[in-house]
Amino acid sequence: MLISFSILLLSLMSILIFYTYRCETRFAWRKIVWYGQNMPENWICMNGDNLQIHESTKAVFENKVYYFCSQQCFNHLAKHFKEVAMVADAFSGDSINKADAIIGLKTRNKQDVVYFKNKENFNRYYETKY
Ligand SMILES: [Zn+2]
Repeated sequence: MLISFSILLLSLMSILIFYTYRCETRFAWRKIVWYGQNMPENWICMNGDNLQIHESTKAVFENKVYYFCSQQCFNHLAKHFKEVAMVADAFSGDSINKADAIIGLKTRNKQDVVYFKNKENFNRYYETKY
């Protein structure tokens, strides 16, 4: 009786922990498995250039699609368009628009992202890292 009760309590607790930290757990998981992969842009903030715990919001600005974690981040891009929307390709250094870029994680297990002009630069960047 006591054993079954403690098993029940334990499983209940682990479910609770799982749901409470679900986002964090997934976030930790993505920081590892998405490294070296062309990651989905709807999980990053293009103002902060980092991976987000929660899915980011799509915003259209001057006919291009960007993703942000908050309204403030979008406003910041709109205000400082040249500094924020344009970025250097992490491999070649070419100036590119974040909306057109291929996105990858800069370092495994870190949330910073880097942008690439094309798949070739993307691949070559990670080749030098391995
Ligand atoms: Zn942001």
